[in-house]
Amino acid sequence: MTFDDLNLIDPILNALKEEGYTTPTPIQEQAIPHVLEGKDLLGVAQTGTGKTAAFTVPILQVLHRTAQVSNHAPRAIRCLVLTPTRELAIQINESFGAYGRHLSQIRHTVIFGGVSQGSQVAQLKRGVEVLIATPGRLLDLMNQGFVDLRQVEVFVLDEADRMLDMGFINDIKRILPKLPTKRQTLFFSATMPDQIQELASTILRPNPIRVAVTPVSSTAETVTQSVFLVENNDKPALLRHILQDKAIKRVLVFTRTKHGADKVVKALATHQIPAEAIHGNKSQNHRQRALSNFKAGSTRVLVATDIAARGIDVDELTHVINYEIPNEPETYVHRIGRTGRAGAFGTAFSFVEDEERAYLQDIQKLISRQIEVENEHPFKTSHVKPVMLHGNERIVRPKGPAGRPQRPSREGGSGGGGVRAGGGQGGGRSGGASGGSRPSGGGERSRPAAPAGGGQSDTARRFGSGGARVNVGGSREGGDQGGRRRGDAGGSRRGSF
Ligand code: AMP
Repeated sequence: MTFDDLNLIDPILNALKEEGYTTPTPIQEQAIPHVLEGKDLLGVAQTGTGKTAAFTVPILQVLHRTAQVSNHAPRAIRCLVLTPTRELAIQINESFGAYGRHLSQIRHTVIFGGVSQGSQVAQLKRGVEVLIATPGRLLDLMNQGFVDLRQVEVFVLDEADRMLDMGFINDIKRILPKLPTKRQTLFFSATMPDQIQELASTILRPNPIRVAVTPVSSTAETVTQSVFLVENNDKPALLRHILQDKAIKRVLVFTRTKHGADKVVKALATHQIPAEAIHGNKSQNHRQRALSNFKAGSTRVLVATDIAARGIDVDELTHVINYEIPNEPETYVHRIGRTGRAGAFGTAFSFVEDEERAYLQDIQKLISRQIEVENEHPFKTSHVKPVMLHGNERIVRPKGPAGRPQRPSREGGSGGGGVRAGGGQGGGRSGGASGGSRPSGGGERSRPAAPAGGGQSDTARRFGSGGARVNVGGSREGGDQGGRRRGDAGGSRRGSF
């Protein structure tokens, strides 16, 4: 299937080509035709599956189509997208800009809290068809009379489960009554716990179309993966050692906790290695600045927790380093999927201390691959034993912080600032293939022997596979990640940040 088979209009098809997309991802293939028909949709999918284009593309077409035949109040808000964080909001706005770049009459803007509202209000006064918002700032501006939602035709609730985790559900419940009851609603969530299921049934019309993508379980063949078995105390020095490699142009370093991320940045700073951290305890302005610097290339090392990194879409990310490997194996797949995008080569290093061997075992089982151990470094130790994919070793799972995820916190939405007005701009995405030559990655490492994922198509391998109809009555087929140890987080899957 190609985008040409989805009944999309030429201006959108051309924009997708310019983005470098050739094949729709499974969620796009399943969702786009229904959204074009005006149906309500319940999408079980997470960031990384291509879900943003799965709703922005058909919405643009629907708005374009109806703009030509009906009389709308000039510049009324016709589509509202609610999303939990500023980062996601900005990226969705950029997507509207990118895919709608040839549809000049569709203006879009993004609002989120934290800084002066002046420029946001000015944008709203000028009029926009598509408003992308985090709940806190939207409510604020609604209460001040700057936002009128009475003309909304399409409402998107993005990352519903994360909204719940971040405490936005009440804000959403206050916003909902301001929307017309006659509207199309698209509801996305990575997981479907009971509370989300309940919310979905109050927001969507009865019998919505349900689409789900199965969890991503394979890693891109364009990513070279290796493991460094190392003592906990040596991790800072190992990181410094690896960062000496000039082939590392832009690296995302992952930690499980916010505190861990700060520690890494501090430790690097004492050796005059500049790095920035992004996580939920940082102000929205700080996070946005760090991300922009990273995107622009002025920051080489960005240290992030999983939640903060969700939705980060940075081209030419040469390396991912798992300073602490994740305790949910699917998170590993998502982390390393940040590099090796769009055909470019990437490298993923994972530091594994003794306590983390159980996680490495889970990861290798999930991706059905033995990750090669890198021995060419000064911190090699015999105290951390390799983990064999086909061995029967029963590895005891650690108790304490490494095994127990932290409680989630509010990571965005009502804090933060600045407006990125769309107004038909092209947005900041380049989307296409990036890079060219393969970075050496600090010593020659063999490429993975065979792509994981059996007979899956490349798009399915990278974006999850589709087809699964989700049973939304509490079971977790579909785009759920890491169901196995969900209990750790007291019912929430957002453990490690
Ligand atoms: P999302 O899940 O919406 O955050 O998308 C994940 C990434 O996939 C983003 O970098 C998109 O630009 C990219 N993407 C979305 N759809 C496609 C596609 N059909 N082909 C290639 N890349 C895509």
